Amino acid sequence: MELLKGVHVIESMANSALLTEDRLILVDTTDDAQATDVLAYLKKTGFKPTDIASILISHVHPDHVAGLAALKDASDAEVAAHQIEAEFISKRKPYFDWDLAHAPVEVDVPLEDGDRYQELTVIHTPGHTPGSIALLDEAHDLLIAGDSMRVLDDGLIAPMDDTYNIDPAQHRDSLRKLTGFSFEALIVGHGAAMASGASNRLKDAVAKL
Ligand SMILES: [Zn+2]
Repeated sequence: MELLKGVHVIESMANSALLTEDRLILVDTTDDAQATDVLAYLKKTGFKPTDIASILISHVHPDHVAGLAALKDASDAEVAAHQIEAEFISKRKPYFDWDLAHAPVEVDVPLEDGDRYQELTVIHTPGHTPGSIALLDEAHDLLIAGDSMRVLDDGLIAPMDDTYNIDPAQHRDSLRKLTGFSFEALIVGHGAAMASGASNRLKDAVAKL
C-alpha cells in the first residue's frame, strides 16, 4: 500500500519499505527466499526489479534478509547495511548461536551511524541486533524503523519482544535515542505503518520504559 506519495509498504511476515521518487530504494526483503511478495508488488505498481537502485537491510534477522539474494540477482542493486551487520549478512561472522538460513550476500556499502546514503540518514539502533539501523527520510518526514520498535494492534509503539533482542537494555536506549529525531510517518517491520503522529507516539512509549 502507498502510505505517502512515493512511499510504499509491502506487507509480509516483516514489512518492507519501498521509496519510488527519483530512484527506487527497497528496505528489507521479507522472510521468503524467492521474495515473492516484493516482486509481485513491484509488478503491480509498474516497476521492474532492475529499477531498484539500492537495497538496504535493517538487520540480519531471517524475516528481513531471506529474500536478499534473490532480489540482488534480479536487480543488481547496490546492497547497504550497517558495517557490523554486513559481516552477518555475508556470513563472514556467525551470528551468535543462530543458524541463519539465508543465502549470504556481500554488502556493497557498509554504513555507520550518521551516514547519509541515498538521501537517508542512517541511525544506528543496536540492541535488537548489534548492527540494527533505522533510516530517517527527511523529505517525507518518515522513519523506517526496521525492528528498532514495533507497533501493537492498538497503535501504540513498544520495544520488540525481548526473546529476539540480543541486548534488551541497549534496545531501549536505542528507542530513547530515536526520540531525538522528528518524524511524522513511521514504517516498522512488525505492526501497522502510520502516516502521522509517530514521534509523539514514540515519546509516549519511551516515557513508559
Ligand atoms: Zn528482527
